[in-house]
Amino acid sequence: MVKEIVVISGKGGTGKTSLTAAFAVLAQRAVIADCDVDEADLHLILSPDVRERHEFRSGQEAMIRAADCIGCGACLAWCRFDAIRMNGQVAGETAFSVDPIACEGCGVCVRFCPAKAIDLSERRCGEWTVSETRCGPMIHARLGPAAENSGKLVSLVRREARRIAGRQDRSLILVDGPPGIGCPVIASLTGADSVLLVTEPTLSGEHDLKRVLELALHFGIPAAVSVNKWDLSPEITERIEIKARQAGARVLGRVRYDEGVTQAQMQARAVVEIDTAAAHDVLYLWHEGSTSLGREMETSADSFYSPNLRDHALHPRNMGPPADFTGHARTTGPCGDTLEFWLGVRNGTVEKAAFTTDGCAFSHAYDSVATCLAEGKSIAQVASWLRRTSWKFSTVCPKSMSIAPSWRQPRSGLPVSMRKRHHQRPRGRSLRP
Ligand code: SF4
Ligand code: SF4
Repeated sequence: MVKEIVVISGKGGTGKTSLTAAFAVLAQRAVIADCDVDEADLHLILSPDVRERHEFRSGQEAMIRAADCIGCGACLAWCRFDAIRMNGQVAGETAFSVDPIACEGCGVCVRFCPAKAIDLSERRCGEWTVSETRCGPMIHARLGPAAENSGKLVSLVRREARRIAGRQDRSLILVDGPPGIGCPVIASLTGADSVLLVTEPTLSGEHDLKRVLELALHFGIPAAVSVNKWDLSPEITERIEIKARQAGARVLGRVRYDEGVTQAQMQARAVVEIDTAAAHDVLYLWHEGSTSLGREMETSADSFYSPNLRDHALHPRNMGPPADFTGHARTTGPCGDTLEFWLGVRNGTVEKAAFTTDGCAFSHAYDSVATCLAEGKSIAQVASWLRRTSWKFSTVCPKSMSIAPSWRQPRSGLPVSMRKRHHQRPRGRSLRP
């Protein structure tokens, strides 16, 4: 069954398209639909190779046949949209024409023209395109200047994406939706399986998210929220997440401000295609999204991580503080994840290693693997591994930086922060529901 995930935002410029492009890269087998037809820009990142081009026609517009016009001016008098232009004299008669931008296609001039010199024809509003990208097929569209009916074009793009997904047996459609809460947004949401709302930590971002979240929930679509550039205002981020949860949305995760995202855009690449900090946040979103935005995201992530690492993420080993240990270290990494390690060392050999973390599924996987690898190794070998990591250990044990047998059990047992966290999260439980 095809799942359709729509990424939208209450306003433009929140990073919605960058996130959709990154998801498209991670998914690989998705059909991508750029429904932001008024300002389509997903193609700038995904560099599509156009295979089919189609005109999009919608509504009608009047056109005067100059040869049949007798210059009576009735159309000028009747048009309520000031769409009739007088073009001076031609062969002794006043020439009239229709301004295609002002014309609403109401047909009044056609009805009252005594010479039957006006035709109503379908209006060309833009075009839609079927392309191939490095991430799979992509349907995108472009409205003409001042053209309307973008909701209809959005529906057309989604319909075509579904048709291609069915024909090519693809189980996921990723939709880059339009900003705002207008007709195009409603057209992109209707019938979708889930929606990811992207915002930024500003007052306007907070306000616009509220409106678009109400819209999504009004249609009964499961919604998740992500704050982009969250570290620009942790306070507003916190507030947005609290309100989102109260409204019934899931808070999927945050993406930090990172100039690497701009670098990626300048290279026409998705953020996950370059080595930059925000890429890790997006990977986290992608993985977490598997539980709330559709299992297809997880299966796509499967292609990114080895089966062994996925197994450790889903079933972490050696979790929780052991009853007995000789050393303990605690650190908060650059991503904000806090990690604690315990080692039981005897005669210079690690007999037992354990961990806890409040981090993402990847943190669980990596820490689980690390503890498995550490057991049975010499303390010198484990210490050399840890020195090669970027973790900076600030620990309750004065000598624990050395990861040496001289580690001592803290006199007062577990530090308060650890006791609190273990009280909140039962030992051994994965973060994944
Ligand atoms: S179709 Fe209607 S809006 Fe267009 S020119 Fe005729 S009267 Fe004016
Ligand atoms: S109403 Fe018909 S005949 Fe009269 S000016 Fe307009 S187009 Fe020409």
